[in-house]
Amino acid sequence: MQDCLFCKMVQKQIPVRAAFEDETVLAFHDIAPQAPVHILVIPKKHFRNIMEVGADDGELVAHLFEVARALARENHLEGNGFRLVVNTGRDGGQTVEHLHIHLLGGRGFGWPPG
Ligand code: 5GP
Ligand code: ZN
Repeated sequence: MQDCLFCKMVQKQIPVRAAFEDETVLAFHDIAPQAPVHILVIPKKHFRNIMEVGADDGELVAHLFEVARALARENHLEGNGFRLVVNTGRDGGQTVEHLHIHLLGGRGFGWPPG
């Protein structure tokens, strides 16, 4: 999608520090990390947020989580745990309107979130 930051990353118009890439998914390190490990896992296909995902996209969504789990393992987060976050819309704190899963780990996180 034109003018979408993450679509531009998928199209290699903006460089990223990639953590994983295949035909349907890209994962890259967040530019402003909030934890020792902070990776964004995104579908290459543009969805504004999780509400745009349809019944036909189940396989893709499962794959996004599969990649997040593999990266958690690769970054040695399995033992102590980690957090997956999907900010959605204004109240959810979403700032980039292209669906993404945050993989956060390497420190403890509070609950409830601020
Ligand atoms: P959101 O707030 O929408 O849930 O998350 C968007 C994330 O994208 C933020 O954590 C922000 O730091 C990250 N981000 C924004 N611009 C860039 C960029 O140009 N490069 C990278 N690697 N991450 C970005
Ligand atoms: Zn996009």
